[in-house]
Amino acid sequence: MKTINTKNENETLGFAEKFARNLKGGEIICLQGDLGVGKTVFTQGLALGLNYKKNVNSPTFVIMKIYKIRNPKSEIRNLIHIDTYRLNSEKDIETIGAQEYFGRHDCITIIEWPERIKKIIPKNSIWINIEIKNKDERTIKISVPQLFPHEVK
Ligand code: ADP
Ligand code: MG
Repeated sequence: MKTINTKNENETLGFAEKFARNLKGGEIICLQGDLGVGKTVFTQGLALGLNYKKNVNSPTFVIMKIYKIRNPKSEIRNLIHIDTYRLNSEKDIETIGAQEYFGRHDCITIIEWPERIKKIIPKNSIWINIEIKNKDERTIKISVPQLFPHEVK
């Protein structure tokens, strides 16, 4: 497990941006943490790191958003951003077809509130936990599964 601390929103953005540059495609990132810890901020940084220059908002009301990526240096073409906060069960995720994207080599999937759909989350997902340390300080813990096909730095 890797732990880092950030002192403000910009540091979280910057960290997530660098983190994204190590992704190869097919990764599923489970982003845990209470309301307001910075899950959406992390996702915005991740999107930047994947070369997505437009706005990324929380998909709380639509459950899933798909951002098209254009990056000549990688095969990643879609960022799938899921927020299960308003879901009642795993069934709803099945209904919107989110699982079709899980693990696809041209997709990165990032899930806010993954614990709500734990049953359908693949075992080789990356788990990231964000906690509030202080007012603007956050502790970010990253667990990469042992069976992970490649190293994430
Ligand atoms: P979540 O998606 O987890 O509910 P958001 O990303 O929407 O949370 O909001 C996080 C809030 O916390 C933002 O208003 C952001 O400015 C603030 N914030 C303060 N410090 C940090 C930090 N170190 N990292 C990320 N966000 C921070
Ligand atoms: Mg959010």
